Amino acid sequence: MQNDIPLTPETTMTDSKKQTGINETQQLLLRKLPGIDHILEIAKQDQELGGTPKTLLTDSVRQVVERLRNTILEDHQKIHENAFMDKAILENIQRIVTAAMKLNLTRTINATGIVVHTNLGRSLLAKEALDQIQMISGRYSNLEYNLATGKRGLRYTAVEDIICELTGAEAAMVVNNNAAAVLLCLDTIARHREVIVSRGELVEIGGSFRIPDVMEKSGAILKEVGTTNRTHLIDYKRAINDQTGLLLKVHTSNYGIVGFTSAVGLKELVELGDAHHLPVMEDLGSGTLIDFSKYSPLREPTVKESVNTGADIVTFSGDKLLGGPQAGIILGNRNIIDKIRQNPLTRALRIDKLTLAALESTLRLYRDEEKAINAIPTLNMLTASIDSIEKKALKLKELIEQSDNERLAVTITDSASRAGGGSLPLFELATKCIGIRIRKMSAGAIEKIMRGNDPPVIGRIEDDLFLMDMRTVQTDELTEVSNAIRTCLKGS
Ligand SMILES: *Cc1c(COP(=O)(O)O)cnc(C)c1O
Repeated sequence: MQNDIPLTPETTMTDSKKQTGINETQQLLLRKLPGIDHILEIAKQDQELGGTPKTLLTDSVRQVVERLRNTILEDHQKIHENAFMDKAILENIQRIVTAAMKLNLTRTINATGIVVHTNLGRSLLAKEALDQIQMISGRYSNLEYNLATGKRGLRYTAVEDIICELTGAEAAMVVNNNAAAVLLCLDTIARHREVIVSRGELVEIGGSFRIPDVMEKSGAILKEVGTTNRTHLIDYKRAINDQTGLLLKVHTSNYGIVGFTSAVGLKELVELGDAHHLPVMEDLGSGTLIDFSKYSPLREPTVKESVNTGADIVTFSGDKLLGGPQAGIILGNRNIIDKIRQNPLTRALRIDKLTLAALESTLRLYRDEEKAINAIPTLNMLTASIDSIEKKALKLKELIEQSDNERLAVTITDSASRAGGGSLPLFELATKCIGIRIRKMSAGAIEKIMRGNDPPVIGRIEDDLFLMDMRTVQTDELTEVSNAIRTCLKGS
């Protein structure tokens, strides 16, 4: 045990090059530096530190002693007279241990107003989905086992029926995400063949997912037609030759081309495909199962519409407007889906069982649209009434103002939230924000403290005002947000 720790103050004093030219005070201080063995012993006795994993504790002790030694050598005037006391040393160790024990992936409060925020984890799962993840991951399951026959089954079976039921599709399967779905479909349908796509639809989605790059990886050959703002049916028609394998439509979900524009609708493309015996695929990106226009100013084509219009294959994400886990949903023509299943790439892109569990539960909720909107947080936030958002704002204002600090000014302002996740790019949803101003503190400083809070609160700055959009802050997070503001007041 003792041999684990080679460093003692004595040995380092003679070893260290830094020792040359040190004065008497420094020598005295170095001699006072407690030994690592000693600190380890008292740390083990300490109630809070006692349970720390051994290597982490030893590491932390070394770090603390090392820091003290460096301070003595570099700027010994900074050494506090209590610095060598057990209590001070244990406190420093505790700080290092606490930081190291904290998980890197941490719960965050989204006050950005962007509902499907890719950097903050996109969709929050419904309670039903969370319960099912817990149930399925803690036990064995029939993931790839057919209980009726006692033989091997397919993991997609769990969700195929419900996807078909909700969309009217003939067949369906699911993979890791929509990027994987697009890759897999292109590779299966159009390897070494030409895929005709409009220049206006060659999208890049944050995180460098570019349709042209994915196509290249899939082995399909991209054939761009039209111009950025206008593409006509005749452009597709002229591009068709005996190398053509697929007509592709990409939902331009993270931007809008406005002004002098023209795009070919799915219906016309399907007719063209039929005439030339070519399959038509639509990458819907966000993909929704409900018609949002009934509940809000949002308008996004539904998956069912694409299927009804006659797309042979449709793909979309599980964690965008659907409000489920990260997944790529592929549906459409049974023959094509069967071919996709046999593609060796499918194995590399397969969906994980936790995801599958969450996806099935989420999809089930859609059997009753009203229930889905209530239970699926993404839908709930997107369709929230301005009154309910204002209610949250008023409640938060009240909580914050309990601090009764004369430096603090809390305002409620009108603003706009966005759907995010590359969906509904041009729509802005009216919302209410809480604005925070603290005298003698910049908005940047407030933002930084909020971001460093536990849990972190992510807002934005506008005109030197720290803003928090109440659409994406959950009701049960209001107290934590107001406590974070209190930390700002203390920290200045
Ligand atoms: C978001 C998006 C993708 C990628 O989906 P992921 O699930 O993030 O992999 C692909 N195509 C379009 C049009 C998208 O909007």
